[in-house]
Amino acid sequence: MQQKCFSIALAGNPNSGKTTIFNNLTGTRQKVGNWAGVTVEKKEGRINRFGYDIRITDLPGTYSLTPFSIEEIVARDFVLDEEPDIVINIIDSSNLERSLYLATQVRELNCNVLFVLNMADLARQRGIKIDDKKLSELLDLPVVFTVGNRNKGMDILVTAAIELIESEKRTPARRRVKYSKDIEKSISAIEALVEARSDDNFSYDARWTAIKLLEDDKIVKKRIREKIIDRGDEIIEQVEKHRECIHALYNDDPEIIMTDERYGFIQGIIKEVVTLSSRQRVDISRNIDLVLTNRFCGFPIFIFFIWAMFQLTFSAGAYPMEWIDMGVNLFSAQMSALLPDGVIKDLFINGILTGLGSVIIFLPNILILFFFIAIFEDTGYMARSAFLMDRIMHLIGLHGKSFIPMLIGFGCNVPAVISARTLESEKDRILTILITPFMSCSAKLPVYIMLAGTFFKEQAGTVIFIIYLAGIILGMLTGRLFRATLLAGKDAPFVMELPPYRVPMLKSLIIHMWDRSKMFLKKMGGVILAGSVIIWVLSSFPIDTEGRKAYLAEKQSVMTFYTDQTASSKADKHSLLQAEFNEKLAKIDADQAVKRVEYSLMGRIGKFLSPVFEPVGIDWRGSIALLTGFVAKEVVISSMSILYAVEKEEDALEHALVKSGMSPLSALSMMFFVLLYVPCLATVTTTFRETGSLKWMMFGIVYSCSLAWLVCFCIYQGGRLLA
Ligand code: GDP
Ligand code: MG
Repeated sequence: MQQKCFSIALAGNPNSGKTTIFNNLTGTRQKVGNWAGVTVEKKEGRINRFGYDIRITDLPGTYSLTPFSIEEIVARDFVLDEEPDIVINIIDSSNLERSLYLATQVRELNCNVLFVLNMADLARQRGIKIDDKKLSELLDLPVVFTVGNRNKGMDILVTAAIELIESEKRTPARRRVKYSKDIEKSISAIEALVEARSDDNFSYDARWTAIKLLEDDKIVKKRIREKIIDRGDEIIEQVEKHRECIHALYNDDPEIIMTDERYGFIQGIIKEVVTLSSRQRVDISRNIDLVLTNRFCGFPIFIFFIWAMFQLTFSAGAYPMEWIDMGVNLFSAQMSALLPDGVIKDLFINGILTGLGSVIIFLPNILILFFFIAIFEDTGYMARSAFLMDRIMHLIGLHGKSFIPMLIGFGCNVPAVISARTLESEKDRILTILITPFMSCSAKLPVYIMLAGTFFKEQAGTVIFIIYLAGIILGMLTGRLFRATLLAGKDAPFVMELPPYRVPMLKSLIIHMWDRSKMFLKKMGGVILAGSVIIWVLSSFPIDTEGRKAYLAEKQSVMTFYTDQTASSKADKHSLLQAEFNEKLAKIDADQAVKRVEYSLMGRIGKFLSPVFEPVGIDWRGSIALLTGFVAKEVVISSMSILYAVEKEEDALEHALVKSGMSPLSALSMMFFVLLYVPCLATVTTTFRETGSLKWMMFGIVYSCSLAWLVCFCIYQGGRLLA
């Protein structure tokens, strides 16, 4: 049987439920990537329904199709250049008027359009009744209702799409916005020009092109010049004449007049298709907001939520963490018994298993943290938190909107830096990107849990809270400093949109959580694995043969000594002797292990670095761990377990750390260093991509490392003075 295939693009306003519907349709069969050349997320999926092979693309959410933001350009170019067979426009029915602005623009593109009136439940709740038949008739296109978060209407949607594909009748651009007479005249004139002059090179719809040219659309103008080579300028010249003409008639720019007329057209549609029932509207969102964004209780409630998030991340994560730890130990013991002694066994047990095992146990914590962040995002609380933080953010000269990247930064700095894109002003964006890494990301959490747990026992929770707080405060101070110097300027004024509260959907929460945790698992298989192997190799070679001989000789002499002693002494003394013997042997083993690593390449690198790290109280092994942490912060922990846990196989890292002579003050200094110094490789490269400047990337690296060293110097030296 021949399978028919076609492609669908999902367009719509942000928060209209596009991604929800996309997830409903594709399930797990989706691919997330970026649009070529820009860092806007691109989601694609393939499904098989009713014998059709359908390719679906989730376009970026936009309110319009003007070429003013990257999202709008990406969405528009996709429809124009990739020519999907159908554009499905997802419309928030509870906000029809706002949604229709984009919808009319999509309608103006000459493509097959299907309207999906999503959030049908909310519309009904608010007493909004939409006449779908009439809407369909007015615009001459199919209209279906859906409730995305309950997975309702998906089959109807797919069936409608297939019907549209199968029917001879395309959705021709007859019923689109009619502009006033003079404008229509200009449109027709330009349309004719474009049609006459264009050949196969230029495939955009002529009427649409004419409208865009009249609106002085930079991108379309550029394309005209490129594609209709020598004759492009002539068209543009004509367009200018028409624009002047319209300007003279209306005393305003054509684009403004046309926008007004589009709104007029939308008003007309609304009048025809929407009826508001007289039932009293109970606006739940408004009522919740009265409490949650209240001047007095809003802030304490917010702090409580954040506190609860961290509390649960630590406490609920503790149990599965133990289970995984037990599992890893068991596996390690089994493998140890199975494998023959040798380099391979050493690499596998002391390199790979130790390195990966020390990191994988934090997976539950990370899953929980991301789950909470997903809840904040999906319920709409994230936007409120920005609203609440607005006043505090103004202290450092930023808008409350900058707080969202910072909050996401607690999960992972990479999406956080990307989310700074929503800020309009370039300076705001750079400033936000520079301070976001001070928000302690989830990869740093294992380091804190390990060090604070070992050295601060009962106070561990408080110490970790202080570290997080210190990150926020230092980030704020940095912001203040840069605002006053490098990035002077005023925060751009803008209106913050508060989306209605929504009960989050479990499926979407899990997809969000999983999307991000996948990165953690990928890191396990990638950089953390590679890091563990490299650290093991560097700390095992070159082999100190002389030292090993001396060690074996010493061991032998101790053994002979005790064998003789045992033979010549009474039986009741034997157990005492045995204990003494074991202790001595353990000490020799431990000394040997340290010497072995010191002799290795890693030891030499560490010794070389020690002048830099000694003043901040970090020993050579710690400095190597920090160095490797540039790749990913979890690697700090796996490096430490390989470097410190050298003394005895079943020794936990905690004991090894205490034995190595690390003091609580050193541990504190190390935690602060991890908090402040250069963010991971992925964040650094994202910073480069998002700021588009090597200068800001380098600046961020140098600044954060210097700040880390300075702060740790003060902590360590100050602490020593006090002690
Ligand atoms: P996008 O920005 O267009 O991708 O929107 P999302 O798919 O992320 O949806 C935004 C929010 O709306 C999510 O919390 C969804 O659970 C919720 N949502 C989606 N469809 C519906 C619907 O039909 N009714 C209601 N009440 N909520 C919905
Ligand atoms: Mg989305």
